[in-house]
Amino acid sequence: VKVLVVGNGGREHALVWKLKQSPLVKEIYVAKGNAGIWQIAKRVDIEPYNIKELADFAEKEGIDFTVVGPEAPLVEGIVDEFESRGLRIFGPSRRASQLEGSKVFAKSFMLRHNIPTAVYEVFEDPTKAKRFIRDFGVPLVIKADGLASGKGAVVCYDENTAISTVERLMVRGELGPAGKRVVIEQFLEGEEVSYIVLLDGDRYVPLPTSQDHKRLLDGDKGPNTGGMGAYSPTPFVDQDTERNIKELIIDRLIKGLKEEGIHYRGFLYAGLMLTKEGPKVLEFNVRLGDPEAQPILMRIKGDFMKNLLDFYEGKEVSLEVDERCALCVVLANKGYPEKPQRGSVIHGLENIKDPDVIVFHAGTDIEDGKLIAKGGRVLNVCAWADTISKAREKVYRAVENIKFEGMQYRKDIGIKAVNLL
Ligand code: ATP
Repeated sequence: VKVLVVGNGGREHALVWKLKQSPLVKEIYVAKGNAGIWQIAKRVDIEPYNIKELADFAEKEGIDFTVVGPEAPLVEGIVDEFESRGLRIFGPSRRASQLEGSKVFAKSFMLRHNIPTAVYEVFEDPTKAKRFIRDFGVPLVIKADGLASGKGAVVCYDENTAISTVERLMVRGELGPAGKRVVIEQFLEGEEVSYIVLLDGDRYVPLPTSQDHKRLLDGDKGPNTGGMGAYSPTPFVDQDTERNIKELIIDRLIKGLKEEGIHYRGFLYAGLMLTKEGPKVLEFNVRLGDPEAQPILMRIKGDFMKNLLDFYEGKEVSLEVDERCALCVVLANKGYPEKPQRGSVIHGLENIKDPDVIVFHAGTDIEDGKLIAKGGRVLNVCAWADTISKAREKVYRAVENIKFEGMQYRKDIGIKAVNLL
C-alpha cells in the first residue's frame, strides 16, 4: 500500500517509523513532517490543515490509506473530504470529532450518557462566570470551549487566577473564538492517565496504557503543555481499573454514540483522572496522544499497518504487545509553552549509540544543512527497558549527549510509577 501520514510532530514520526516496518507498505509519505520524518518518508509540502490540497494529492498520487495525527484537520473535516472522494482514511468524521473540538459538546455528551466526569457549568457571559467562580470557590478548572492546542485549560487554585482567566479568555479574547464560551468545572484529584483505543462503531481494541506529564516543570508544577514526557505501561491502570474504564467510560461512550447516530472510526483517547470515586473523564481526544503515541507504538510488536488495515476492514485484530516498558522524554525549546524561541542548532544526536534508544523528532527543520530546533517541543528521546526505572536511566543518559540553546526538559518522567512499584 501507499500510505500518507498527516502531521508534523513526534507522534507522526513514531507512526511513520512503525508503519514503515510493515512489508505491506510500498511507499510512505508525510505532510508535512519534520527533519526526522523526512529521513524515512517522502516529504509532501502541504500543511495538515490544507484539507482539499491533501485530498488532491492523495487522489493524484494514488494513496491507498491515510492516517491523521493531529486534531485540527479532523475537527475541520479531513475525513469527510477524503471519504467523499472515495479515499480511505483512518480518523473520525467532522461530526464525531466534536468530542474534542467542543468541550461543551463533550461535557453534555458525557452528562447525557452517564459517563463519569467533573461537574461543570457552561458560560457565555463573563459576569455570570465570575459570579459562579465566587460562589463555587476554588480550586476549579476553566476551559475554553474550542481547540487551543493545549493552552485552553487553566487549573485555578486561587480566585484571582480564575477571575483573570475569565478576563483573558472571554473579555480580551486571547484564544479567539475558541474562548468565547467556557466550561468551568470541579477540580479533580488523583492520578492522570491516558487510555487510547482503536474504535469503529461498537468494536474497539485497547492500545497499551500510558501516562503523560502535562505540566512544564518537575513535580507537576508550572503551566500546562502539550505533554513533556510519557511512558507505557502505567502501573496506575491495573486490571480492576482497566475493567472500570471499559465499563464506565468506553462502553457508555460507544452506546451514546450509537444512540445519537454518530459513527466513530479512528483513535479515541480518553484523558482520565483516577479519583477515589473511580475513573473520571477529563477530556476526549479524537487522535493518538503526543507524546503517549511514542512509547505506545514502541511497544506494539508485529505489523501495525496490517492491524490498522484489518481493523478498518472490520476484521478481528489482536495486538501483540512488547513486555518491556518504553519511556519518552520531551526536549523543548526555551520559552515553551508561552513563547518558544526558535532556530538554534541541535548537536550531539550522532553520539547516541544505545540500540534501545530512539529519538523521534518534533519541531525540527534543516537550515543550511544543519539540524535546527524550530518548534516548541523539539525532540522525543525514548528507550525500551525491562523496567520503567531502567528505561529512565537509558533515556536520561542519552539526553546528556544532546545540546541546543535553551533546551529544557523534565527530569522526573515516570518517577511516580517507579515509586509506586
Ligand atoms: P490538551 O489539548 O493538552 O489535551 P486541553 O486544552 O484540551 O488539553 P484538558 O485536557 O481538558 O485541556 O486539560 C488539560 C489538563 O488540565 C489536563 O491534562 C489535566 O492535567 C488538567 N485538568 C483538566 N481538567 C481538570 C480537572 N477537572 N481537575 C484537575 N485537573 C484538570
